[in-house]
Amino acid sequence: MALYTTDLLILGSGPAGYTAGIYAARAGIKVMIVSGNQEGGQLTMTASIENFPGFEDISGYELMDKMKQQAIKLGVEFVNDYIVEVDFSNRPFVCSSENGHSYKARAIIVATGSSAKWLNIESEKKYLGYGVSACATCDGFFYRGRTVAVIGGGNSAVAEALYLATLADKVILVHRRNQLRADKILQDRVLNNKKIVVEWNSVVEEILGQDEPKKVTGIKIKNVETDVVKEVALDGVFVAVGHKPNTDIFKGNLVLDSKGYIVTHENSSQTDVDGVFAAGDVKDPKYKQAVISAGSGAMAAMDAVEFLDNE
Ligand code: NAP
Repeated sequence: MALYTTDLLILGSGPAGYTAGIYAARAGIKVMIVSGNQEGGQLTMTASIENFPGFEDISGYELMDKMKQQAIKLGVEFVNDYIVEVDFSNRPFVCSSENGHSYKARAIIVATGSSAKWLNIESEKKYLGYGVSACATCDGFFYRGRTVAVIGGGNSAVAEALYLATLADKVILVHRRNQLRADKILQDRVLNNKKIVVEWNSVVEEILGQDEPKKVTGIKIKNVETDVVKEVALDGVFVAVGHKPNTDIFKGNLVLDSKGYIVTHENSSQTDVDGVFAAGDVKDPKYKQAVISAGSGAMAAMDAVEFLDNE
């Protein structure tokens, strides 16, 4: 059990966390990043990124690794750990980790991002890891030449469907409305991809499977316009129905909005606690883009440096 002390502690290692680290280190502040349970954050699960300026096409893993190396080169201390409790009532602030380590800091940037949401049906839990997944880049490989479904109609769902279409024989995109929410360019790619069929106005009632060996064998979907229920045989189900902010440990410590996002002052990354700042998806219910998270991380670092300089 170690006690770490730093000027600025950054919680989270996505684009917001690394960018905040890069900016703060360049300002001469002693900075430490605690990775969270998924080093590099959600983006490491994205196979191909085409909208981060400067990179025509780069994998999420590679982009995040580049950010990490840049931060370390500039002097950021990086620790692979997961914070489970925070105490923002006194300064220095204290964060405690699942490994029993304590981190004390004069200022904090919360950049803990968001996590995938689930359908919350019983059969989804039953077959999680046995044909049900929320990560095509992680698990798509197992479905080479098979049939899979992707649930959802946003950017994540269509990106997953397009990626899976490079591996699977057939991808069924199940969307609860008759219009996709995803960016037009991705929608066009999905609708023009011969391997992808869309089940419009449809919700998943049940994921079907067998016990020995345990695996998914199909889905039962209901058309919400006609109420017709049908079973579709397939091998895997990828759930991509949105994200929720990773703010459970901040309940009671920071002001959150009704959906759990951290509330910051207008045009600032300052939370309701002086010296605690927030950046990236954890405070962004709307844009949720890597480039915006990175910009938000830069803002938070500038706010935190100003706060520390003014002390
Ligand atoms: P999202 O944009 O909120 O889309 C969630 C999708 O899931 C919506 O189509 C929604 O349907 C559907 N949905 C939600 N709950 C459902 C349920 N219980 N059952 C069935 N369907 C359900 O979330 P996201 O796709 O995860 O994207 C999150 C953010 O990341 C967005 O801002 C997105 O732009 C961004 N992102 C960007 C990229 C990129 O730029 N390439 C890639 C991935 C993600 P409705 O449409 O009916 O609401």
